[in-house]
Amino acid sequence: MAVKPVVLWFRRDLRLNDNPALNQAAATGRPILPVFILDRDPDRPAGAASLWWLDKSLRALDVSLQERGARLILRRGDSLIQLRSLIEETGADAVFMNRLFEPAAFARDAEIAHELKSDGVECRGFNGSLLARPGAVLNGSDAPYRVFTPFMKALLASAEPPPHTTGPRRIETPAEVASEAMDDWALHPTRPDWSKGFDWTPGEAGAAAALSDFLARGAKTYAADRDRPGLPSTSRLSPHLHWGEISPWRAAQRAREAASAAEAAKFVSELGWRDFSAHLLHHFPTIVDRAFRPEYESMPWRNDPEGLEAWKRGRTGYPLVDSGMRQLWTTGWMHNRVRMVAASFLVKHLLIDWREGEAWFWDTLVDADLASNVQNWQWVAGSGADAAPYFRIFNPIGQGEKFDADGAYVRRWVPELRRLPDRWLHAPWTAPAEVLRDAGLRLGKDYPRPILDHAQARARALDALKTVSGRD
Ligand code: FAD
Repeated sequence: MAVKPVVLWFRRDLRLNDNPALNQAAATGRPILPVFILDRDPDRPAGAASLWWLDKSLRALDVSLQERGARLILRRGDSLIQLRSLIEETGADAVFMNRLFEPAAFARDAEIAHELKSDGVECRGFNGSLLARPGAVLNGSDAPYRVFTPFMKALLASAEPPPHTTGPRRIETPAEVASEAMDDWALHPTRPDWSKGFDWTPGEAGAAAALSDFLARGAKTYAADRDRPGLPSTSRLSPHLHWGEISPWRAAQRAREAASAAEAAKFVSELGWRDFSAHLLHHFPTIVDRAFRPEYESMPWRNDPEGLEAWKRGRTGYPLVDSGMRQLWTTGWMHNRVRMVAASFLVKHLLIDWREGEAWFWDTLVDADLASNVQNWQWVAGSGADAAPYFRIFNPIGQGEKFDADGAYVRRWVPELRRLPDRWLHAPWTAPAEVLRDAGLRLGKDYPRPILDHAQARARALDALKTVSGRD
């Protein structure tokens, strides 16, 4: 009787190195059927920028598989139905996968495993995406942590970095298995193609290159410079990590080898925030669209379609906020410091519901990640588990002067302001008329006047926050 193949079900683990499901499938010595199924994400359908990325990452994975003698089989539709038909066509009797930990995906996968087992198919899941799987890091009462610092301490004390693996050199795969064509999925935008400014190389090789680049440059001064958006000082690994093109442990270990202990520790701690977000969403599934702190559900949000639109388009009149929103629209990514300032502007200055901003980020970020996005938005809004205190309202002028003092970031993304001297760059409306004239800037024409007054908006936000949290 012919040896039965193992189905290797790729999802958000689009790599061959450090891939536990692939390693375990290879260890069986049986032929491997690598498949990706384009199914509706049970937690929330992927945004447009995510699909842009997926298109390229799957093509890159297919090339890597072909170099090893295999290829990626593409299927579309309900995951269980597609897996069953693949099993029926090929005689496979096992499905190996790396787990997804978002609540609905986790439950869906458990259901699939149950169904397949009842068909007599072995189903095995592994953790390839997080430093520690949810449930592995609990406090003394066996409950999930709600505060980051003790969570991270416990994670580092207990989690064992897996050894680096490069995957099998040859992957034996059955020859004739039907696959859909990537082009038919039309994941790349057309009419219009809004991705022309996307300067990314999706795929495992792109992830490795981004990490090497970071270790050669930004990692050396990461702790001090990671907050300066005008510098290339962070890794830009977030979309690669989201799609599993690199394992977080691999990124952590390489940073530990290449950077000083202090810089590496800071970087690993940021990776820890990614894990913390995933653990929180896994354990507290309602935070996907409900405040972690229930009292924040009564926040008196404003309905302000014009304010929301100005924010999305980068036309608030606050240069740091507008730079971030334009960087997001143009490249599919925004620097972390600016994400905090832009999100705070929406939630606190404009008093617009954090879910509106979260949805916009979800659609436009190439690194859109349900757990990280929700957790960070709730952190900014003050409603999250380990959130910023309610009275923390980022000052978009002060943040610009502090973190973009030389204006490199704002001048890049808001070129209308490039001739304005540093002194007025982050608050152009305060510049004397002759300074504006010399800079060739007509406020209200070339660049908007501020859509609100910072001090008034701050006071309004504090009043609103006091009513919900009962603080005085
Ligand atoms: P680096 O500084 O190089 O950090 C390394 C890695 O650590 C990142 O790639 C990322 O995986 C992780 N990380 C760093 N900071 C955080 C953080 N605060 N929370 C969780 N993980 C972190 N990150 C996403 O990956 N997806 C999102 O959808 C997302 N939405 C966000 C929304 C808001 C409002 C805010 C304030 C932050 C959000 N972040 C999100 C977190 C953070 O901004 C990005 O992870 C970071 O900017 C990615 O850039 P980098 O890879 O160069 O980061």
